[in-house]
Amino acid sequence: MVIPEPHPDEISLYIHVPFCRKKCGYCHFFVLPNKPEYHRLLLKGIHLEWQKQRELLKGKTLTSIYFGGGTPYLFGAENTRIFLETIFSVLSFDKNIEITLEANPYEMEKKSLKDFRDAGINRLSLGVQSLEDSLLKILTREHTREEAINSINEAKEVGFDDISIDLMYEIPGQTLKLWENTLNSAISLPITHLSLYNLTFEPHTSFYKRKDQLIKLLPAENESLAMIQSAVDHFNNASLKRYEISAFAREGKYSRHNTGYWLGRSFLGFGPSAYSYYRGKRYRNVANLNQYMDKLEAGLSPVDFEEELPQEQKLREHLAIRLRLIQGVHLPTFERLFTFLPTELKLTLHRLEEQGFLKQEEERIFLSTQGILLYDSIAVELI
Ligand code: SF4
Repeated sequence: MVIPEPHPDEISLYIHVPFCRKKCGYCHFFVLPNKPEYHRLLLKGIHLEWQKQRELLKGKTLTSIYFGGGTPYLFGAENTRIFLETIFSVLSFDKNIEITLEANPYEMEKKSLKDFRDAGINRLSLGVQSLEDSLLKILTREHTREEAINSINEAKEVGFDDISIDLMYEIPGQTLKLWENTLNSAISLPITHLSLYNLTFEPHTSFYKRKDQLIKLLPAENESLAMIQSAVDHFNNASLKRYEISAFAREGKYSRHNTGYWLGRSFLGFGPSAYSYYRGKRYRNVANLNQYMDKLEAGLSPVDFEEELPQEQKLREHLAIRLRLIQGVHLPTFERLFTFLPTELKLTLHRLEEQGFLKQEEERIFLSTQGILLYDSIAVELI
């Protein structure tokens, strides 16, 4: 699977919908209770933001739109349709545009799914996490294995051909056997894409407070490694190819939106706490719905953080992020797009190759099997 270089005029949109019925114990995202008055505020806010940002989109072609969160499914098909119509009334878009909605299995209903499809959503990303009831309980998820399986089948029945699921490993109490039960069930479902995550203990979560107790229940390091290898083997046998360190897809079904992040495509974020990346600058909206609204209603920018890295640091970061893709980095193309690699960086790449973490074939560098496992340390060396 070869992922093409984004055209400089391509752009993506991300809409952060922060509502959830309940906060999961491990979640560190900006999340609010699911209240109708918040929905009204958000809809107004993203429209005000749209008015401010649309100038930046002139002459651009929209490649993907991603409704993430939170649980954007809770925002409702009608609000989603209204915002998409606003966008499409003024912007040109790629005929293969990918429009993804994140959802959780327990709240999905067939009728709403159909409404979302009619509103323009053509890809679903479902927070399944596990297909083992005991582990879903530990994760404080609200759904069961059966509900997850039914939701995926129902999504397929109403016409979603692109369905991605998230699965989590390194859960307290998880064994290789339980993981393989989940893998076997997952590959029998009508999914086209899969993302893997390991559980992390982030500050300000209830899991973080119980860290000492939960850590004792984590799988041992060698078992975690066996879990990753088993996942790669299971997915490979089911024609779900690894195209990024944590992402697997059927042929041609890679996430257009996420590959934009890895390849440095510009994107604009809407909603509280949403990030944007535009003309080499990264910025983020304030992570507070009232402050976000106050700023927009006063005609001000809701951005509370922005940074633009110095040229060399930017180059290093792009290189490290692109290496997450299994296809690696074609060096002449990379140097044409950015600038020549500094000698010191070339020497680091050469050393990592000699140490067996990187490989090089026909001017393309990519991570070796060992390099994939140790990606975080390699990225630190490159950046
Ligand atoms: S559903 Fe997702 S976004 Fe919402 S609290 Fe759970 S992990 Fe966080």
